[in-house]
Amino acid sequence: MRFLISGAAGFIGSHLCDRLLADGHEVVALDNFITGSKDNVAHLEGHSRFQLYAHDVTQPFFNHTAFDAVLHLASLASPKHYFAHPIETLESGSTATRNMLEVARRDNARFLITSTSEAYGDPEVHPQVETYWGNVNPVGPRSCYDESKRYAEALTMAYHRMHGVKTTIARIFNTYGPRMALDDGRVVPAFIDQALRGEPLTVYGDGSQTRSFCYVRDLVDGLVRLALSDERYPVNLGNPAEMTILQFAEYIRDAVNPSLPIVFHPLPQDDPKRRRPDITKARTILGWEPAVGLGEGLEETIGYFRQRVDRL
Ligand code: UDP
Repeated sequence: MRFLISGAAGFIGSHLCDRLLADGHEVVALDNFITGSKDNVAHLEGHSRFQLYAHDVTQPFFNHTAFDAVLHLASLASPKHYFAHPIETLESGSTATRNMLEVARRDNARFLITSTSEAYGDPEVHPQVETYWGNVNPVGPRSCYDESKRYAEALTMAYHRMHGVKTTIARIFNTYGPRMALDDGRVVPAFIDQALRGEPLTVYGDGSQTRSFCYVRDLVDGLVRLALSDERYPVNLGNPAEMTILQFAEYIRDAVNPSLPIVFHPLPQDDPKRRRPDITKARTILGWEPAVGLGEGLEETIGYFRQRVDRL
């Protein structure tokens, strides 16, 4: 199949390119490198079935040869980045999503949007099931991301209903692995970076808030299965193994340098208190569930970050 991937030089996008190429597909990759990095796809340069274009998908994309599938990943996914670029973040869910949907409509291609667990906001239902509509502050600091993704979901359903586009919606929960940027600001690279440099680990709040971390290889497998499925409504993709952020800090500290202190900083506004996916739907309709445990995934991730920190 011929795939168009937006956000292809990002953390998840680059792993998705690897997987699709390994499966024998052709990949046309787009990125404007606002948070993605050419380094993430440098190893694919010269691959006969891979083409990379510097393109901002808030601008229309015109292609000469039809695509079989359009996967729209372009987005600023880290709170640090969407706080710094709220308007671009809203644009990636709105204008950019529409541009990518237009390609899928013209080509009669499959379409996948990577939505987010943030669509549930600070959830009152736990674990989060796809039928829960969420608890989102529409004017809070995270709203540029949450509402952008919720709008993107609505736009995607509208293209399905009005134009019959074969759309799918992935709600991605916290994901980690090699190729996250060291200065990404999210908790996994932040703690690993701090631990490798021998600095205190910075826990926000009292660390009792929970997250559930999915290894990127598992996540990408779920995305591929979903993109090829006929499910039109959102599907959660994530690892249901939930832990507190304090437990996670202790885990990273013990894995890298058990003598490091953990320090506490103020909790950012609207930081969700609990997050864990209910993945019954993905298990049932995609036959998917995560296979990589936290120990194995973090070993690979810490190994990757160790090389990066050593090079600085
Ligand atoms: N967090 C933290 N220390 C850090 C970075 C993040 O305690 O240095 C917390 C953050 O407040 C949140 C959780 O870790 O409760 C996950 O944050 P992240 O930015 O990775 O993504 P989120 O799940 O909030 O979108």
